[in-house]
Amino acid sequence: TKVLLTGGSGFIAAHILDQLLSASHTVITTVRSQSKADAITSAYPSQTTSGHLTVAIVPDIAQPNAFDSVLQTHSSGLEVVLHTASPFHFKFNDPKKELIDPALIGTTSILSAITKFAPSVRRVVVTSSFAAIINEAHVSDPSTVFSEKSWNPVTIDDIHRNPATAYRASKTLAEKAAWEFVQNKENDAKFDLVTINPPMVFGPVVHHLATLEAINTSNERIVDAIKGKWKGEIPPTGQAYIWVDVRDVATAHVRAGLGLVEGVAGKRLFVVSGWFSNAQIAEVLRKNFPEDKEKLPEEGVKGGELPEEDKRFGYDNSETTRLLGIEWIGLERSIVDTVRSLKRVEVSA
Ligand code: NDP
Repeated sequence: TKVLLTGGSGFIAAHILDQLLSASHTVITTVRSQSKADAITSAYPSQTTSGHLTVAIVPDIAQPNAFDSVLQTHSSGLEVVLHTASPFHFKFNDPKKELIDPALIGTTSILSAITKFAPSVRRVVVTSSFAAIINEAHVSDPSTVFSEKSWNPVTIDDIHRNPATAYRASKTLAEKAAWEFVQNKENDAKFDLVTINPPMVFGPVVHHLATLEAINTSNERIVDAIKGKWKGEIPPTGQAYIWVDVRDVATAHVRAGLGLVEGVAGKRLFVVSGWFSNAQIAEVLRKNFPEDKEKLPEEGVKGGELPEEDKRFGYDNSETTRLLGIEWIGLERSIVDTVRSLKRVEVSA
């Protein structure tokens, strides 16, 4: 199958790309610079030579016609589009320009380029987020159950509240725009839409792309912990408390995108492994990496605990688990594999 994957340099997309190429699909992936393109092609020399892998440069996804040229060039026989590219970091000055525009216009620009130039596309998967599900006012409310049906009520007016809210707004507005696009008959979309909505994603980094300095946002806390920053006190976990492994997120994109599972068209897939806290991560690290004892918080060091059940939200992703048939990777394995991958990156740096 011929697949277009946007943002191929990303933490999650690198795993999607690897799974697609391992299964001998033909992939066109987009990145925003030649150096990232080169890093990807040199990691897959034989697939590049055989034409199974092409890397295209899309310098600015926040332009309304950003994806026109790549879809014009690669439309022949294209069946599936996986749109993962979207900013996920908190290092911005202007949330509208640096987060909302690339998230929102990036999404509408790829959907409109598909309808204009690639009528053979039958399915589009957009990487959304738990950020588009959560309701910040209800995170401590045990009677709230977040599910595939829940929507974050955040609006564009909330983007100056704090960086996390701005990021959540970018994901919510982008996902809403995607559903509106396919529902609007005037757009005459010939494809169906699936969104993948992961909470915090942990898991191994793909070696040729990662550096510890430029680690992806959701693995930052694990880098901090192994560098010794948790030694005196474990930092607060955040608000979200649920997580999933990157390999399962990639599998969800592949299964849903390539039609390997039934009944997902038009669905939001809430891919969740379970609860986590920084305190649990510290425990996993202490148990599995005794050689790093000096840098890790000792047993008894406080902080980062999971709130009691009656002081946190509930969630239900049973429909997604049933549809995808994934047995979610557990926290201990995910964290151990993450740390091993980070150590390999560090050694070769
Ligand atoms: P990364 O930061 O590793 O990947 C983000 C990708 O988007 C990169 O390819 C990046 O390109 C690209 N990108 C970011 N901003 C722009 C921009 N302005 N213009 C063009 N491309 C851009 O993070 P993840 O892999 O974690 O994120 C992938 C997707 O998953 C995003 O949509 C994110 O919102 C979503 N997600 C992630 C979660 C997580 O915990 N990791 C949880 C839920 C959703 P470049 O390499 O050039 O920076």
